[in-house]
Amino acid sequence: MTPTDIQGKNVTVIGGARSGLAAAKLLKRHGASVFLTEQKAATEGMTAELDAAGIGYEFGGHTIRALEADFLVVSPGVPSTVNIIVQAERQKLPVYSEIEVASWFCHAPIVAITGSNGKTTTTSLLGHLFRQSGRETVVAGNIGYPFADYVDELSDDAVVVLEVSSFQLDHIATFRPTVSVLLNITPDHLDRYNYDFNEYAQSKFRIFKNQRGDDVLVYNHDDDLVRDYVRWAQTRRDLQALGFSLNEELETGAFVRDGALVLRLTQDEEVLMQAEQLALRGRHNLYNSLAAAVAARIMEISSDVVRESLTSFQGVPHRLELVRTHHGVRYINDSKATNVNAVWYALESFNEPLVLIAGGRDKGNDYASLKPLVEEKVHTLIALGESADKVLRELGPLTKQQFHADTMEDAIRFAHLFAEPGDAVLLSPACSSFDMFKNYEDRGDVFRRLVMSL
Ligand code: ADP
Repeated sequence: MTPTDIQGKNVTVIGGARSGLAAAKLLKRHGASVFLTEQKAATEGMTAELDAAGIGYEFGGHTIRALEADFLVVSPGVPSTVNIIVQAERQKLPVYSEIEVASWFCHAPIVAITGSNGKTTTTSLLGHLFRQSGRETVVAGNIGYPFADYVDELSDDAVVVLEVSSFQLDHIATFRPTVSVLLNITPDHLDRYNYDFNEYAQSKFRIFKNQRGDDVLVYNHDDDLVRDYVRWAQTRRDLQALGFSLNEELETGAFVRDGALVLRLTQDEEVLMQAEQLALRGRHNLYNSLAAAVAARIMEISSDVVRESLTSFQGVPHRLELVRTHHGVRYINDSKATNVNAVWYALESFNEPLVLIAGGRDKGNDYASLKPLVEEKVHTLIALGESADKVLRELGPLTKQQFHADTMEDAIRFAHLFAEPGDAVLLSPACSSFDMFKNYEDRGDVFRRLVMSL
Protein backbone atom coordinates (compact mmCIF):
# COMPACT_ATOMS: atom_id res chain seq x y z
CA MET A 1 0.00 0.00 0.00
CA THR A 2 1.17 3.55 -0.63
CA PRO A 3 0.64 6.62 1.58
CA THR A 4 -1.95 7.90 -0.92
CA ASP A 5 -3.93 4.68 -0.60
CA ILE A 6 -4.23 5.31 3.12
CA GLN A 7 -6.32 8.46 2.80
CA GLY A 8 -9.91 7.92 3.83
CA LYS A 9 -9.36 4.30 4.82
CA ASN A 10 -10.96 2.88 7.93
CA VAL A 11 -8.32 1.19 10.03
CA THR A 12 -8.45 -0.66 13.32
CA VAL A 13 -5.32 -0.96 15.41
CA ILE A 14 -5.30 -3.88 17.85
CA GLY A 15 -3.23 -3.21 20.95
CA GLY A 16 -2.57 0.17 22.52
CA ALA A 17 1.02 -0.19 23.69
CA ARG A 18 3.90 1.74 22.14
CA SER A 19 3.94 0.22 18.64
CA GLY A 20 0.16 0.17 18.28
CA LEU A 21 -0.12 3.77 19.33
CA ALA A 22 2.68 4.80 16.98
CA ALA A 23 1.00 3.01 14.04
CA ALA A 24 -2.37 4.56 14.88
CA LYS A 25 -0.92 8.07 14.94
CA LEU A 26 1.04 7.54 11.74
CA LEU A 27 -2.05 6.36 9.87
CA LYS A 28 -4.12 9.18 11.29
CA ARG A 29 -1.52 11.75 10.22
CA HIS A 30 -1.83 10.36 6.71
CA GLY A 31 -5.57 10.77 6.50
CA ALA A 32 -6.97 7.44 7.68
CA SER A 33 -9.86 7.15 10.06
CA VAL A 34 -8.38 5.17 12.92
CA PHE A 35 -9.97 3.13 15.70
CA LEU A 36 -7.89 1.56 18.46
CA THR A 37 -9.02 -1.49 20.39
CA GLU A 38 -7.28 -2.69 23.54
CA GLN A 39 -7.90 -5.68 25.78
CA LYS A 40 -6.73 -3.93 28.93
CA ALA A 41 -8.10 -0.85 30.64
CA ALA A 42 -6.79 2.52 29.50
CA THR A 43 -3.59 3.67 31.14
CA GLU A 44 -3.46 7.14 32.60
CA GLY A 45 -3.58 9.89 30.03
CA MET A 46 -4.18 7.44 27.21
CA THR A 47 -7.73 8.48 26.29
CA ALA A 48 -6.78 12.15 26.38
CA GLU A 49 -3.87 11.42 24.07
CA LEU A 50 -6.12 9.55 21.64
CA ASP A 51 -8.80 12.26 21.80
CA ALA A 52 -6.19 14.88 21.01
CA ALA A 53 -4.99 12.84 18.04
CA GLY A 54 -8.55 12.30 16.80
CA ILE A 55 -8.34 8.53 17.16
CA GLY A 56 -11.43 6.53 18.22
CA TYR A 57 -11.00 3.78 20.80
CA GLU A 58 -12.37 1.08 23.04
CA PHE A 59 -10.66 -0.37 26.12
CA GLY A 60 -11.29 -3.46 28.21
CA GLY A 61 -11.96 -5.81 25.28
CA HIS A 62 -12.49 -6.03 21.54
CA THR A 63 -16.02 -5.60 20.20
CA ILE A 64 -17.50 -6.17 16.79
CA ARG A 65 -16.85 -2.46 16.07
CA ALA A 66 -13.20 -3.39 15.59
CA LEU A 67 -14.05 -5.32 12.44
CA GLU A 68 -15.60 -2.32 10.69
CA ALA A 69 -12.38 -1.56 8.86
CA ASP A 70 -10.63 -1.82 5.50
CA PHE A 71 -7.70 -3.41 7.26
CA LEU A 72 -6.34 -4.10 10.74
CA VAL A 73 -2.97 -3.40 12.27
CA VAL A 74 -1.79 -5.68 15.03
CA SER A 75 0.74 -4.76 17.71
CA PRO A 76 3.58 -7.25 18.24
CA GLY A 77 2.37 -7.95 21.78
CA VAL A 78 -0.95 -9.35 20.57
CA PRO A 79 -0.92 -13.09 19.73
CA SER A 80 -2.30 -14.05 16.32
CA THR A 81 -4.62 -16.47 18.07
CA VAL A 82 -6.82 -13.80 19.70
CA ASN A 83 -10.39 -14.00 18.64
CA ILE A 84 -10.54 -10.64 16.90
CA ILE A 85 -7.69 -11.55 14.54
CA VAL A 86 -9.11 -14.98 13.83
CA GLN A 87 -12.44 -13.36 13.01
CA ALA A 88 -10.80 -10.71 10.81
CA GLU A 89 -8.95 -13.37 8.87
CA ARG A 90 -12.12 -15.37 8.49
CA GLN A 91 -13.71 -12.26 6.95
CA LYS A 92 -10.68 -11.88 4.66
CA LEU A 93 -9.78 -8.54 6.20
CA PRO A 94 -6.07 -7.86 5.77
CA VAL A 95 -4.10 -7.83 9.04
CA TYR A 96 -0.73 -6.04 9.02
CA SER A 97 2.00 -5.60 11.58
CA GLU A 98 3.31 -2.22 12.64
CA ILE A 99 6.61 -2.59 10.71
CA GLU A 100 4.66 -3.46 7.57
CA VAL A 101 2.60 -0.27 7.90
CA ALA A 102 5.61 1.89 8.77
CA SER A 103 7.53 0.52 5.78
CA TRP A 104 4.88 1.94 3.40
CA PHE A 105 6.11 5.40 4.40
CA CYS A 106 9.83 4.73 4.45
CA HIS A 107 12.08 5.73 1.54
CA ALA A 108 15.33 5.04 3.32
CA PRO A 109 16.97 1.61 3.05
CA ILE A 110 16.19 -0.80 5.85
CA VAL A 111 18.68 -3.16 7.47
CA ALA A 112 16.47 -5.61 9.36
CA ILE A 113 17.76 -8.03 11.97
CA THR A 114 16.00 -11.09 13.29
CA GLY A 115 16.86 -14.33 15.05
CA SER A 116 16.08 -16.07 18.31
CA ASN A 117 19.06 -14.53 20.11
CA GLY A 118 21.36 -11.62 19.43
CA LYS A 119 18.88 -9.26 17.79
CA THR A 120 19.31 -6.34 20.16
CA THR A 121 23.07 -6.76 20.35
CA THR A 122 23.50 -6.89 16.57
CA THR A 123 21.00 -4.08 15.99
CA SER A 124 22.82 -1.83 18.47
CA LEU A 125 26.16 -2.79 16.98
CA LEU A 126 24.97 -1.91 13.49
CA GLY A 127 23.45 1.32 14.79
CA HIS A 128 26.85 2.20 16.24
CA LEU A 129 28.56 1.30 12.96
CA PHE A 130 26.32 3.48 10.82
CA ARG A 131 26.53 6.37 13.25
CA GLN A 132 30.31 6.15 13.30
CA SER A 133 30.26 6.34 9.52
CA GLY A 134 28.50 9.70 9.80
CA ARG A 135 25.33 8.50 8.13
CA GLU A 136 21.93 9.60 9.47
CA THR A 137 20.82 6.51 11.38
CA VAL A 138 17.59 5.44 12.97
CA VAL A 139 17.64 2.42 15.26
CA ALA A 140 14.12 1.15 15.83
CA GLY A 141 11.75 -1.79 16.10
CA ASN A 142 11.67 -4.43 18.77
CA ILE A 143 14.54 -2.66 20.52
CA GLY A 144 11.98 -0.31 22.08
CA TYR A 145 11.48 2.52 19.59
CA PRO A 146 8.55 1.94 17.23
CA PHE A 147 9.51 2.24 13.57
CA ALA A 148 6.23 4.10 12.91
CA ASP A 149 7.40 6.98 15.11
CA TYR A 150 10.32 7.78 12.80
CA VAL A 151 9.26 7.24 9.20
CA ASP A 152 7.79 10.69 8.64
CA GLU A 153 11.06 12.41 9.49
CA LEU A 154 13.50 10.26 7.58
CA SER A 155 15.53 11.63 4.71
CA ASP A 156 16.22 9.36 1.75
CA ASP A 157 19.92 9.28 2.70
CA ALA A 158 19.25 7.88 6.13
CA VAL A 159 19.48 4.23 7.03
CA VAL A 160 17.05 2.39 9.27
CA VAL A 161 18.44 -0.37 11.47
CA LEU A 162 15.45 -2.36 12.53
CA GLU A 163 15.21 -5.09 15.14
CA VAL A 164 12.41 -7.39 14.03
CA SER A 165 10.62 -10.02 16.09
CA SER A 166 8.87 -13.04 14.67
CA PHE A 167 5.56 -11.52 15.76
CA GLN A 168 6.15 -8.51 13.52
CA LEU A 169 7.01 -10.84 10.64
CA ASP A 170 3.81 -12.81 11.07
CA HIS A 171 1.85 -10.02 9.45
CA ILE A 172 3.97 -8.53 6.72
CA ALA A 173 2.90 -8.26 3.09
CA THR A 174 5.39 -6.05 1.24
CA PHE A 175 8.00 -5.31 3.94
CA ARG A 176 11.30 -5.45 2.09
CA PRO A 177 14.65 -4.79 3.73
CA THR A 178 17.64 -3.85 1.60
CA VAL A 179 19.70 -6.07 3.86
CA SER A 180 18.18 -8.68 6.13
CA VAL A 181 20.17 -10.45 8.82
CA LEU A 182 19.06 -13.85 10.10
CA LEU A 183 21.16 -14.68 13.15
CA ASN A 184 19.89 -18.08 14.30
CA ILE A 185 16.71 -19.99 15.01
CA THR A 186 16.36 -21.92 18.24
CA PRO A 187 13.20 -22.72 20.20
CA ASP A 188 11.63 -19.66 21.86
CA HIS A 189 8.12 -18.20 22.20
CA LEU A 190 6.63 -21.54 21.19
CA ASP A 191 3.61 -20.73 23.33
CA ARG A 192 2.63 -18.25 20.60
CA TYR A 193 3.18 -20.69 17.73
CA ASN A 194 0.96 -23.61 18.78
CA TYR A 195 4.10 -25.19 20.27
CA ASP A 196 5.23 -25.79 16.71
CA PHE A 197 8.92 -24.98 16.11
CA ASN A 198 8.41 -25.12 12.37
CA GLU A 199 5.70 -22.47 12.52
CA TYR A 200 8.02 -20.22 14.54
CA ALA A 201 10.90 -20.80 12.09
CA GLN A 202 8.66 -20.01 9.13
CA SER A 203 7.84 -16.64 10.61
CA LYS A 204 11.56 -15.81 10.95
CA PHE A 205 12.16 -16.79 7.31
CA ARG A 206 9.63 -14.19 6.23
CA ILE A 207 12.28 -11.52 6.80
CA PHE A 208 13.64 -12.12 3.30
CA LYS A 209 10.41 -13.15 1.61
CA ASN A 210 10.13 -9.91 -0.42
CA GLN A 211 13.82 -9.33 -1.09
CA ARG A 212 14.83 -9.17 -4.73
CA GLY A 213 17.29 -7.54 -7.14
CA ASP A 214 20.29 -6.20 -5.26
CA ASP A 215 18.82 -6.89 -1.81
CA VAL A 216 20.95 -9.20 0.30
CA LEU A 217 20.23 -11.75 3.00
CA VAL A 218 23.01 -12.21 5.57
CA TYR A 219 22.53 -15.55 7.30
CA ASN A 220 24.11 -17.91 9.81
CA HIS A 221 25.66 -20.68 7.77
CA ASP A 222 26.35 -22.77 10.88
CA ASP A 223 22.67 -22.97 11.78
CA ASP A 224 21.54 -26.10 9.94
CA LEU A 225 17.92 -25.09 9.72
CA VAL A 226 18.72 -21.61 8.42
CA ARG A 227 21.33 -22.83 5.93
CA ASP A 228 19.08 -25.56 4.52
CA TYR A 229 16.15 -23.23 4.15
CA VAL A 230 18.25 -20.57 2.41
CA ARG A 231 19.62 -23.17 0.00
CA TRP A 232 16.13 -24.36 -0.73
CA ALA A 233 14.87 -20.79 -1.23
CA GLN A 234 17.73 -20.18 -3.68
CA THR A 235 16.59 -23.09 -5.82
CA ARG A 236 13.16 -21.47 -6.06
CA ARG A 237 14.06 -17.86 -6.79
CA ASP A 238 16.80 -15.35 -7.27
CA LEU A 239 18.09 -14.60 -3.77
CA GLN A 240 21.40 -12.99 -2.97
CA ALA A 241 22.59 -14.55 0.26
CA LEU A 242 25.88 -14.18 2.12
CA GLY A 243 26.60 -16.55 4.97
CA PHE A 244 28.75 -16.15 8.05
CA SER A 245 30.40 -19.10 9.72
CA LEU A 246 32.77 -20.10 12.48
CA ASN A 247 33.05 -23.64 11.12
CA GLU A 248 33.89 -23.20 7.45
CA GLU A 249 35.76 -20.93 5.08
CA LEU A 250 32.84 -19.90 2.90
CA GLU A 251 33.24 -19.25 -0.80
CA THR A 252 31.33 -16.01 -0.31
CA GLY A 253 30.42 -14.47 3.02
CA ALA A 254 32.40 -14.13 6.24
CA PHE A 255 34.34 -16.50 8.46
CA VAL A 256 37.21 -16.72 10.92
CA ARG A 257 40.65 -17.96 9.92
CA ASP A 258 43.56 -18.15 12.36
CA GLY A 259 41.80 -15.82 14.76
CA ALA A 260 41.03 -13.20 12.11
CA LEU A 261 37.68 -12.11 10.68
CA VAL A 262 37.75 -12.63 6.92
CA LEU A 263 35.24 -11.17 4.48
CA ARG A 264 34.70 -12.56 0.99
CA LEU A 265 31.84 -10.48 -0.28
CA THR A 266 32.94 -10.68 -3.89
CA GLN A 267 35.74 -12.66 -5.48
CA ASP A 268 38.19 -10.62 -3.41
CA GLU A 269 39.07 -11.55 0.10
CA GLU A 270 39.66 -9.09 2.88
CA VAL A 271 41.15 -9.81 6.29
CA LEU A 272 39.17 -7.36 8.38
CA MET A 273 40.67 -7.62 11.87
CA GLN A 274 41.74 -9.96 14.65
CA ALA A 275 38.90 -11.43 16.69
CA GLU A 276 40.68 -10.48 19.89
CA GLN A 277 40.27 -6.80 18.97
CA LEU A 278 36.48 -7.12 19.08
CA ALA A 279 34.78 -5.23 21.88
CA LEU A 280 32.23 -8.00 22.45
CA ARG A 281 33.49 -11.24 23.93
CA GLY A 282 32.22 -14.77 23.46
CA ARG A 283 31.50 -17.05 20.54
CA HIS A 284 27.93 -15.77 20.12
CA ASN A 285 29.25 -12.23 19.79
CA LEU A 286 31.70 -13.38 17.18
CA TYR A 287 28.66 -14.41 15.16
CA ASN A 288 26.97 -11.08 15.85
CA SER A 289 30.11 -9.16 14.90
CA LEU A 290 30.57 -11.12 11.67
CA ALA A 291 26.93 -10.55 10.74
CA ALA A 292 27.19 -6.82 11.47
CA ALA A 293 30.44 -6.51 9.52
CA VAL A 294 28.94 -8.15 6.43
CA ALA A 295 25.76 -6.06 6.60
CA ALA A 296 27.76 -2.85 7.04
CA ARG A 297 30.13 -3.61 4.17
CA ILE A 298 27.18 -4.38 1.86
CA MET A 299 25.86 -0.95 2.79
CA GLU A 300 29.23 0.45 1.76
CA ILE A 301 30.57 1.40 5.15
CA SER A 302 34.35 1.47 4.84
CA SER A 303 36.41 -1.31 6.38
CA ASP A 304 38.19 1.23 8.58
CA VAL A 305 34.93 2.37 10.11
CA VAL A 306 33.75 -1.23 10.55
CA ARG A 307 37.01 -2.17 12.27
CA GLU A 308 37.02 0.87 14.52
CA SER A 309 33.34 0.44 15.44
CA LEU A 310 33.63 -3.24 16.26
CA THR A 311 36.48 -2.32 18.59
CA SER A 312 34.80 0.62 20.30
CA PHE A 313 31.27 -0.70 20.81
CA GLN A 314 30.21 -0.40 24.44
CA GLY A 315 27.81 -3.36 24.57
CA VAL A 316 24.19 -3.46 25.62
CA PRO A 317 23.01 -3.56 29.26
CA HIS A 318 21.71 -6.88 30.62
CA ARG A 319 23.61 -8.93 28.02
CA LEU A 320 26.72 -10.35 29.65
CA GLU A 321 27.20 -6.95 31.22
CA LEU A 322 30.06 -6.65 33.67
CA VAL A 323 28.58 -4.97 36.74
CA ARG A 324 31.58 -4.95 38.98
CA THR A 325 34.69 -6.80 40.10
CA HIS A 326 34.52 -7.22 43.87
CA HIS A 327 37.20 -9.04 45.89
CA GLY A 328 38.51 -10.52 42.66
CA VAL A 329 35.08 -11.85 41.63
CA ARG A 330 33.49 -10.57 38.42
CA TYR A 331 29.71 -10.10 38.65
CA ILE A 332 27.97 -10.44 35.29
CA ASN A 333 24.40 -9.44 34.51
CA ASP A 334 22.94 -11.52 31.68
CA SER A 335 19.32 -11.04 32.71
CA LYS A 336 18.32 -10.95 29.03
CA ALA A 337 19.25 -14.63 28.74
CA THR A 338 15.62 -15.69 28.84
CA ASN A 339 16.09 -18.97 26.99
CA VAL A 340 18.40 -21.96 27.18
CA ASN A 341 20.40 -21.17 24.08
CA ALA A 342 21.43 -17.75 25.38
CA VAL A 343 22.68 -19.36 28.60
CA TRP A 344 24.64 -21.91 26.57
CA TYR A 345 26.54 -19.10 24.86
CA ALA A 346 27.01 -17.27 28.13
CA LEU A 347 28.54 -20.32 29.82
CA GLU A 348 30.61 -21.02 26.75
CA SER A 349 32.17 -17.56 26.88
CA PHE A 350 33.73 -17.97 30.35
CA ASN A 351 37.04 -19.56 31.20
CA GLU A 352 36.90 -18.96 34.94
CA PRO A 353 34.97 -21.07 37.51
CA LEU A 354 31.37 -19.94 37.82
CA VAL A 355 28.60 -19.36 40.30
CA LEU A 356 25.43 -19.48 38.21
CA ILE A 357 22.16 -17.83 39.22
CA ALA A 358 19.34 -19.24 37.07
CA GLY A 359 15.58 -19.74 37.09
CA GLY A 360 12.42 -17.69 36.71
CA ARG A 361 9.32 -18.41 34.66
CA ASP A 362 9.98 -21.55 32.66
CA LYS A 363 8.94 -21.56 28.99
CA GLY A 364 8.99 -25.33 28.60
CA ASN A 365 12.79 -25.41 28.86
CA ASP A 366 14.90 -28.43 28.05
CA TYR A 367 18.15 -28.04 29.99
CA ALA A 368 19.94 -31.02 28.43
CA SER A 369 22.18 -28.91 26.19
CA LEU A 370 23.53 -26.99 29.20
CA LYS A 371 24.62 -30.03 31.17
CA PRO A 372 28.16 -30.50 29.82
CA LEU A 373 29.00 -26.80 30.28
CA VAL A 374 27.47 -26.65 33.76
CA GLU A 375 29.43 -29.73 34.78
CA GLU A 376 32.65 -28.27 33.41
CA LYS A 377 32.36 -24.67 34.61
CA VAL A 378 29.77 -24.16 37.36
CA HIS A 379 30.74 -25.05 40.93
CA THR A 380 27.78 -23.38 42.63
CA LEU A 381 24.24 -23.25 41.31
CA ILE A 382 21.74 -20.83 42.81
CA ALA A 383 18.18 -21.40 41.66
CA LEU A 384 15.63 -18.64 41.80
CA GLY A 385 11.95 -18.18 41.00
CA GLU A 386 9.11 -20.44 39.90
CA SER A 387 11.38 -22.87 38.08
CA ALA A 388 13.91 -23.18 40.93
CA ASP A 389 13.03 -26.81 41.69
CA LYS A 390 13.26 -27.83 38.05
CA VAL A 391 16.60 -26.05 37.65
CA LEU A 392 17.96 -27.75 40.76
CA ARG A 393 16.66 -31.14 39.64
CA GLU A 394 18.13 -30.82 36.13
CA LEU A 395 21.42 -29.05 36.77
CA GLY A 396 22.04 -29.32 40.51
CA PRO A 397 23.56 -32.83 40.43
CA LEU A 398 26.30 -31.52 38.12
CA THR A 399 27.56 -28.89 40.56
CA LYS A 400 29.37 -29.01 43.88
CA GLN A 401 26.92 -26.75 45.73
CA GLN A 402 23.30 -25.92 45.10
CA PHE A 403 20.99 -23.44 46.75
CA HIS A 404 17.37 -22.46 46.43
CA ALA A 405 17.10 -18.67 46.82
CA ASP A 406 13.76 -17.08 47.62
CA THR A 407 14.82 -13.61 46.55
CA MET A 408 17.54 -12.02 44.45
CA GLU A 409 18.95 -10.71 47.70
CA ASP A 410 19.37 -14.29 48.97
CA ALA A 411 20.90 -15.28 45.65
CA ILE A 412 23.54 -12.56 45.86
CA ARG A 413 24.25 -13.45 49.49
CA PHE A 414 24.90 -17.10 48.58
CA ALA A 415 26.94 -16.06 45.56
CA HIS A 416 29.07 -13.68 47.59
CA LEU A 417 29.70 -16.41 50.13
CA PHE A 418 30.75 -19.12 47.71
CA ALA A 419 32.58 -17.22 44.97
CA GLU A 420 36.35 -17.17 45.28
CA PRO A 421 38.77 -14.61 43.84
CA GLY A 422 39.15 -15.41 40.14
CA ASP A 423 35.56 -16.71 39.84
CA ALA A 424 32.66 -15.06 38.10
CA VAL A 425 29.09 -14.80 39.36
CA LEU A 426 26.75 -15.02 36.41
CA LEU A 427 23.06 -14.15 36.40
CA SER A 428 21.85 -15.95 33.28
CA PRO A 429 18.37 -17.22 34.08
CA ALA A 430 17.23 -19.21 30.97
CA CYS A 431 13.74 -18.10 31.96
CA SER A 432 11.58 -15.05 31.69
CA SER A 433 11.39 -12.69 34.64
CA PHE A 434 7.65 -12.22 35.05
CA ASP A 435 7.33 -14.49 38.09
CA MET A 436 9.21 -12.04 40.34
CA PHE A 437 10.03 -8.92 38.35
CA LYS A 438 8.40 -6.40 36.03
CA ASN A 439 10.61 -7.46 33.15
CA TYR A 440 14.18 -8.59 32.45
CA GLU A 441 15.49 -5.04 32.82
CA ASP A 442 14.00 -4.84 36.31
CA ARG A 443 15.57 -8.21 37.20
CA GLY A 444 18.96 -7.03 35.90
CA ASP A 445 18.64 -3.69 37.70
CA VAL A 446 17.88 -5.43 41.01
CA PHE A 447 20.89 -7.69 40.48
CA ARG A 448 23.09 -4.69 39.67
CA ARG A 449 21.91 -2.70 42.67
CA LEU A 450 22.51 -5.58 45.07
CA VAL A 451 25.93 -6.30 43.61
CA MET A 452 26.91 -2.65 43.90
CA SER A 453 25.90 -2.62 47.54
CA LEU A 454 28.10 -5.60 48.48
P1 ADP B 1 17.50 -10.71 21.49
O1 ADP B 1 17.25 -9.26 21.22
O2 ADP B 1 17.39 -11.55 20.26
O3 ADP B 1 16.77 -11.27 22.66
P2 ADP B 1 20.01 -9.96 22.80
O4 ADP B 1 21.07 -9.31 21.99
O5 ADP B 1 19.16 -9.11 23.66
O6 ADP B 1 19.09 -10.82 21.83
O7 ADP B 1 20.66 -11.12 23.67
C1 ADP B 1 19.82 -11.99 24.41
C2 ADP B 1 20.64 -13.03 25.10
O8 ADP B 1 21.23 -13.89 24.12
C3 ADP B 1 21.79 -12.50 25.93
O9 ADP B 1 21.92 -13.34 27.04
C4 ADP B 1 23.00 -12.61 25.01
O10 ADP B 1 24.20 -12.74 25.72
C5 ADP B 1 22.65 -13.85 24.20
N1 ADP B 1 23.11 -13.77 22.80
C6 ADP B 1 23.48 -12.67 22.12
N2 ADP B 1 23.80 -12.98 20.85
C7 ADP B 1 23.61 -14.31 20.71
C8 ADP B 1 23.77 -15.23 19.62
N3 ADP B 1 24.19 -14.84 18.42
N4 ADP B 1 23.49 -16.54 19.87
C9 ADP B 1 23.07 -16.95 21.08
N5 ADP B 1 22.91 -16.13 22.15
C10 ADP B 1 23.18 -14.83 21.97
